[in-house]
Amino acid sequence: MKLDLIEILLNVGRSMAYPVNEPGLRLDEEASTTDYMGSLRFTNSGGALLVEGRISSRLRMVCSRCLRQFEQSISLSIEEQFAIQIHGNRSTGRSVTVQEEDENPDAGRIFEGDWFNLTEMLRQHSLLEIPIQPLHDENCSGLCPHCGQDLNIKSCSCREDDMPSPFAVLAKFR
Ligand SMILES: [Zn+2]
Ligand SMILES: [Zn+2]
Repeated sequence: MKLDLIEILLNVGRSMAYPVNEPGLRLDEEASTTDYMGSLRFTNSGGALLVEGRISSRLRMVCSRCLRQFEQSISLSIEEQFAIQIHGNRSTGRSVTVQEEDENPDAGRIFEGDWFNLTEMLRQHSLLEIPIQPLHDENCSGLCPHCGQDLNIKSCSCREDDMPSPFAVLAKFR
């Protein structure tokens, strides 16, 4: 969803609440989100646009140990500030440029002129919620490295001493 914020951007003190109800997004090869629900408030504080709000969704990921898919609820706390630059005047017509704080070349742009790209903002905030090593349970037993059995479901008959252990490797050096 893209929102035209020209009315807010041109008027100091103007504020608008926006109810968020957006479809989920594919974040990367393994992670996606379900619908986003919440609210945002856009406020022109004079020279800056404040975007604040709380948006909830569910993050779908793949467990890094046992490879099963799992979900976790997320709550995005949005608190961003964008500098507003107004060009022209009332008679010539005015246009607005919105400055994005972090000019990360890899990140998509949240503003295109006076158009606010809500989808892109949700995508950027959701990416930050993905753990480096997603675990469906912090005690996940993972898969057997020999036979691939999911050890959360049942144990396998591979012998413990078949497994390369860090102690065995160390013993060779002694
Ligand atoms: Zn797991
Ligand atoms: Zn096994």
